[in-house]
Amino acid sequence: MTTSNQTWKERGARLAAGLMFASLLLLLAGCTLFNRPKPDPWAAYRAGLAPLSQNILDSRSDWPRYSLDLQIDPETRTIQGSQEVIITNDTQFTWGDLYFRLFPNLPHFDGEMEIASVQRAGRPLPFSYAADRTAIRVAPPQPVAPGASLTLDLIFSVEAPAPTEPYVLFGASQGILNLPLAYPVLAVFDQAAAAASEPIPWRLDMPATYGDTAFTQAALYQVTATLPSTFTVVATGVLLGRTSSADGQDTWRWTSGPIREWMMTLSPDFHVVSTSAYSTTVNSYFLSGDEVTGNEALQIAAAALRVYQDHYGRYPYPAMDIVASPLQYRGMEFPGLDLIGLGLYRQRTQDLEFLIVHEVAHQWWYNMVGNDPVRTPWLDEGLAEYSTYVYLGAVRGQAAADNLLANRWQTPVTYARNNGLDAVVNQPASAFGAGRYETIVYAKAALFFHAVRQEVGDDMFFRILKAYVQRYRFREVQPADFVSLAERLSGKSLAAIYNEWVLSYVTP
Ligand SMILES: [Zn+2]
Repeated sequence: MTTSNQTWKERGARLAAGLMFASLLLLLAGCTLFNRPKPDPWAAYRAGLAPLSQNILDSRSDWPRYSLDLQIDPETRTIQGSQEVIITNDTQFTWGDLYFRLFPNLPHFDGEMEIASVQRAGRPLPFSYAADRTAIRVAPPQPVAPGASLTLDLIFSVEAPAPTEPYVLFGASQGILNLPLAYPVLAVFDQAAAAASEPIPWRLDMPATYGDTAFTQAALYQVTATLPSTFTVVATGVLLGRTSSADGQDTWRWTSGPIREWMMTLSPDFHVVSTSAYSTTVNSYFLSGDEVTGNEALQIAAAALRVYQDHYGRYPYPAMDIVASPLQYRGMEFPGLDLIGLGLYRQRTQDLEFLIVHEVAHQWWYNMVGNDPVRTPWLDEGLAEYSTYVYLGAVRGQAAADNLLANRWQTPVTYARNNGLDAVVNQPASAFGAGRYETIVYAKAALFFHAVRQEVGDDMFFRILKAYVQRYRFREVQPADFVSLAERLSGKSLAAIYNEWVLSYVTP
């Protein structure tokens, strides 16, 4: 009995232990089943953002995504490209046709982009050129309903020019090859045009030659480019790796967080110096012989990046590049990358600081807070311009800032007002002509933001700008968005200021 009793006890104990073990296993299995981390849909893009900004990716489940594979021949200035693009219809309207912009075919870009094929799931889709070959219309197999996604594969080629002019934004000049927008970019769907039943509710505007080129929406990019190893490529996005092959070709791989467009600039002669601004690496790329001004450019850009982060909020990327470019005395902004004209490193060095701090400000006003630069250029230009006043006040003192305000903005705007040249700020770039564009879209718009600052006070003004970035980061604003946000936060009516500076003009 004892034995048997003990046996039963032992059996019972074993059974209890077995049951406990099984429950533990179930519990563990349960933990694994229910707590298994969801796969991160944006894992491939996280390296494109600074650690503290990676949560921006989680704010959307429908980021547009481009995967580009590019063979670049800098000698012939040609690209053979393929791209996969994943698009989600984030509007209230069903999309019948889709439009992609082919910006290299703009008359003032003077390039040639051809589409060889558009496919969905291995099947060719019909497409046709539109808007003077600066777009293609693609007919999906069925309309794309709101919320629905579509994956397309495009094969294309690009040829860039080598003009003799001193200003070359697209093409080769002075040992540098600029390749902005050298891939088919999804056009922006125009909900107002769709509501008005316009036949083509997509933005297919032809930009003015003196304004910015492209209205684009933020997307995520993965890009691979193969080209001769003698070239250095500076690109938007973060470089993941560069591998060399026996035939003298290098393959470069990048990823990106949300950026408004993909840009590459190439040269066999780029030198680089680097520093940091808070946690961002700042790189200055320049050509041989420009070491002194290349270093100056680096220090200016780092200082601007610190001032703007203090006043507007965090810069989202791990790095920012300032790159010498055949743009004469001008600059051009791209996500995480600003081009600065070679003439500013050599002849007009006194303007280098102003140009750089203007372009760095575009990282907030254009790239993060987006707007249509063709129809409402004042939204980004006015704030980028006004930011130079913010920078000067912080770095060189109030007298230097006031000097800029008087000489650069008040004098030309007063002259325009006294001579019948004033104009409404809130107009498309094409309304001004090259002569008045900077006075109205840059100077007068900057004075509008200054008037708002004087009305609401410094603390509230910068609270408003930080909130503006937070609210519209990687989205697009309409003209009234800034004013309505500023009125809501400050509790003041800004209608009179808005009317005076943005909506009306003075006749002598
Ligand atoms: Zn600008």
